[in-house]
Parts: sequence; structure tokens; C-alpha cells
Amino acid sequence: MRKKELLENAHPYYEEDQLLELEHAIDFATKAHNGQKRKSGDPYISHPLAVADLLIQWGMDIDSVLAGVLHDTVEDTEATLDEIESLFGHGVAFLVDGVTKVSKARSGMQDLANYLPQTKDNLSKLLIAVGQDVRVIIIKLADRLHNLSTLQYMPHDKQVKIARESLEVFAPIADRLGMGRVRVQIEELAFSFLDPTEYNRLKNIMKKRLGKSTRKLGIVRTEVSAELEKHKVKSEINGRVKSIYSLYQKLKKVDGNIDDIYDLMALRIIVETKEDCYRVLGLLHTMYQPMITRIKDYIAVPKPNGYQSLHTTVITPTKQIVEFQIRTYTMHEFAERGLAAGFHYHEQKSTNDYIKKKRASTLPAQMQWITQLQDIATRLRNNEEISTEQLNIDIFGNRIFVYSPKGDIYNLPEGALPLDFAYMVHSDIAKHTYSFRVNGKIHPFDKPLSNGDVVEVVTRKISSPKQDWLELVKTTHAKQKLRSQLKELGIIRTISSAAHIIRQKTSRRKSK
Ligand code: MN
Repeated sequence: MRKKELLENAHPYYEEDQLLELEHAIDFATKAHNGQKRKSGDPYISHPLAVADLLIQWGMDIDSVLAGVLHDTVEDTEATLDEIESLFGHGVAFLVDGVTKVSKARSGMQDLANYLPQTKDNLSKLLIAVGQDVRVIIIKLADRLHNLSTLQYMPHDKQVKIARESLEVFAPIADRLGMGRVRVQIEELAFSFLDPTEYNRLKNIMKKRLGKSTRKLGIVRTEVSAELEKHKVKSEINGRVKSIYSLYQKLKKVDGNIDDIYDLMALRIIVETKEDCYRVLGLLHTMYQPMITRIKDYIAVPKPNGYQSLHTTVITPTKQIVEFQIRTYTMHEFAERGLAAGFHYHEQKSTNDYIKKKRASTLPAQMQWITQLQDIATRLRNNEEISTEQLNIDIFGNRIFVYSPKGDIYNLPEGALPLDFAYMVHSDIAKHTYSFRVNGKIHPFDKPLSNGDVVEVVTRKISSPKQDWLELVKTTHAKQKLRSQLKELGIIRTISSAAHIIRQKTSRRKSK
């Protein structure tokens, strides 16, 4: 990747003055990295430029792109954060600082590492801890993706280490951000380095299978396309081939029997409106016999990462099994680009909006975990202790959706108890909890909620928080709110302020 090429790629999407700034950043970074080389022998600058190029492809705002160009300057060159701030502004410096902290934290040199438990997935916690602004993580994903694509130049042991970390940490994060395409790219590359033999074996199997079914699928596609046209549904139909890594994972579940996998290749129908999605589903079910257990409505009930589509698997008269995925263009965009779509250059807001409260409150329901992430990041910075287990529950566990009786949707970690829901709705409601009704039935305080539950908090003025409630909440948010209510009521004493002072002293000593 070279300067001229990057500027050309950026040209259609950004304003004239933004492009000038980009050129300025490229020149600054080129000078800073002068003389450094990548393992491939390329000049080092080719890497940050490739990262910036990915961020442009993902439709990120100009500050992220500039930070992409500059992301390795503070760590690897003489350039300082102050310089970057004075040249490119606070917003860009803030992002570069975030990315630098992630890298530093990884090599264990950073203060953050001092108060976070050293475990296998330390990196994920560090990513979260410095991920005050989720764009930092998106830049980090671009960085990782480019490093993976040039991994062949690394020694074998490093290849394995980076590939494993990518599968364990970066791919799940991309998934959690709803960035489906990036997740797949990371998984495919990482898997091909981690287990090249298995990767190639599956790739060959896939090739053979696809060769046979592509022609048959073509016939189905023509049939469907004609039917949709007849009913005046405007649509676009594409074939979607399963990725090697997800085939690998699925094969493990079905004891390696590839005949049990129906979605090696699926047909994806993209339409204009949500209503059209359901019309298409109806038409497909009129044309073919659906497999009843394989109809999924992720439009009415989205996946926890926000993914929306209708899925159905049908059997054609020639006994062919075909999976269809039906979605609107908007849903398709989100499925591919996820949260990155929210920072689109078409609707750029100022960096300050993201840094301040606004960035969180404008997120859709399924992304509420990001608010929690930012909350936890702040508390880690304030030296509050959060256990490993807690982080896993809040951030890396599976998520469920529950509803208020009014139909408002809430996103909670799996295993969450009714009081977690109550505190999520409002701590003033939670403190007067008397009982719970779930799906119309009385529900005990200690029984976890399930996906799709409708939860009603029954309140009484005379009810108030009790100490044993501490055992009946799982999320950090609820624990924190409940604790401060208990303190207010004098039920538990505020010993933590003393602990806090001691901790502050210790950390001051450390930083000397
Ligand atoms: Mn880098």
C-alpha cells in the first residue's frame, strides 16, 4: 500500500480538508517510520497505510483513519503523543493513545497490567480496559487483520501464537461488535496458520461438494428469482459459501459427518423492506417444503450481537436441501460491518460526542453491552477491583434478550437474575422490588432469566434493598447500584473508602 493509492481510495468518501489532513498524516508517519522495515522486507509505512485502508473500506470516520495511519508512531518511533495532538487534534491523539496502550499492555509494560489479573485471556481484558472508545478496538482489529495477512513472513512459533490469540480474542470481539465479515476474515487466516493440514483438507472437501451443488443451486436460484419477479418483489440473490473455519467447528458438533451440514452453500435474498422479507419467506414455503426445525426469525428476535435475517431450509422436489437467508439491505450492511457501520462517514459526529456520554446512549439495544464495557473501563481506571469472573460474565459470556411488559428490549448476560433486570431498568424501581412476574407467572429471585422472557418487576413502597440481595445479582451494574443503596441505608459500611486510599498510595508508589 502506497500513499497515492490510499489517497485515491479515500477520495470518494471524505471532504477536501479531511483528505489534506490524511495526506499530512501519511507524510508525518512516513518520516517517523523512515528506515524501518517489515519482516516481509517492505518499508514499515506499508503496514499503517494498509490498516488505514481497511478502516476506509469499513467506512470509519476520518479520525479513525488518521489514527490508523499514525497508530504505531508513538510506540515504535520518536514521535510523541503531544506532537500528534498539536498536529492532528485531541480526537486523533486520544485514539492513537488507546491503540498504543493496548500494545504496551500486551507486552506487560503498562500500568494497567499491574492491577489486572495475569491470566490466559489477559489481553481481552486489556482490550476492554483501554477500550473506552470502541473505535480503539476497531482500529486494533484492522491492525490484527493486516498482521495476519502478512503472517507468512514470521517465524513459525510467532505464527502459532498470533494465530491462536486471533481466534481466541480478536475473532470473538469482531463477532461481538457484529462485524461478521471481519470475523470471518480473521478466522480463515488464523485457522490456516494454526492447522494448515486440516484447513487444506476441509478446503478440498468443500471444493468437491460445491462443484456438485453449484449447478443444482443455480436452478433453484433461477426458479426463485422468477417467482419473486412474478410477485413484484424487488430482490437480489447471491450464493453464500460457508467459511472453512465455521465448517470445521460445525463438523466437530456432528461427529465429522459432512452430510449433516445443510448450509455449505446458502442462497441469500436481499430485499428492500422488512415486510418483503416475510413475503419472500411465505413464497419460498409455498414453493418448497420447509424443514420445520430450521426456520429462524432473527428479525423479530435478533441475535445478541444485533444480527438480523430470516433463515429457512427447504427441500426441493428433486430432494435437494437448500438454506435461504432473507434480509433487507440495511440488515445486510449491519451483518457485514456491524458496529463500524455506526461510525459511518456519512453521519460523522465529532469525536467529543463519542468520548462523552453520547457515544453510548445512541447505541441500539443489542449493543448495550458496550455501555457496560465503557462503564467497566472507567472503573478499572479508578482502581476499582473487578474479578476475572465478573469480567467474563459482563463482557465475554453469552447474552440474552428479555422484555419489559411494555415491550422494551433489554440485553443481559446469560445467567442474569431478575434483580439484574430490575437494576438495568432503573435503580429506583429495583430498590422497591417486592416480587417478579416472568411471562405472567411468579418467579423466584434466585432463578435465572431466559432468552425472550417478559419480566415484570412488582414493586411495593415498603420494600427496600436487603443485604442478601447481594447474592441475587450477577452483573457489575446491579452489584454497584445495590451496594450504594445498602450503604445509604446504613446496611453495609463504607470500608471501601479506606481501601481506596491505601490502593491509591500503592499505585503512586508503583508509578515512581
Ligand atoms: Mn500495527
